[in-house]
Amino acid sequence: MIDSHECPRCRKEMDPGYRPDYGYGQVRREEWASGKPQRSFWFGVKTRDLERLPVVTYRCPGCGYLESYARPE
Ligand SMILES: [Zn+2]
Repeated sequence: MIDSHECPRCRKEMDPGYRPDYGYGQVRREEWASGKPQRSFWFGVKTRDLERLPVVTYRCPGCGYLESYARPE
């Protein structure tokens, strides 16, 4: 587990957050899923059998650099 994140450009401590995923009137947290999305005629995009992880994005307060991690919480 990495607890400290430093901006590679200006060496400032980066702030954790997430990038909201807007859709269908609700805001969801961005997720990472393994493999490629597979179209299914009946169920839309199948993600049920894939590994899914929440995405945490760190932002540098100095230059705005973003760095994302997908890992179990
Ligand atoms: Zn920076």
